[in-house]
Amino acid sequence: MSTTDAPPFRVLPRVTDQNRHFWEGGEHGELRFLRCRKCATIIHPPVGVCPRDHSTDVAPEAVSGRASVATYTINHQPWMPGPDLPYVVAIVEIEEDPTVRLTTNIVGCRPEEVFIGMSVEVVFEEQPDGEGAVWIPLFRPVEGAVR
Ligand SMILES: [Zn+2]
Repeated sequence: MSTTDAPPFRVLPRVTDQNRHFWEGGEHGELRFLRCRKCATIIHPPVGVCPRDHSTDVAPEAVSGRASVATYTINHQPWMPGPDLPYVVAIVEIEEDPTVRLTTNIVGCRPEEVFIGMSVEVVFEEQPDGEGAVWIPLFRPVEGAVR
């Protein structure tokens, strides 16, 4: 499990039985999505039914954690207390299915080094949440991705 240097302010997710695998997978270093056991479709956001074949035979499964940057913005504005500016808000497409997109932050490089199509991998930021914790998936460049 990895964490980032400077955890920015977070609005924490509400963990439910349906999305717990996603928010707590980072404890095991795993990015997890619900996946249909019949057709292998990845279901995100997590609902209990496959959008392709309407099967309810779905279960959490870890993916590689690799993704690519679909789009991003560099935030220079202090909208909320917390994060060091500037920081990168990005939408990444996961390697297993580019239609599965996550809104996240790109960490581990300078904001101006981020580009569309950059190969990234998940890192998790642990955040205390009541009695337990959640693990926020963030992404950093894979080795050699920074130009
Ligand atoms: Zn299915």
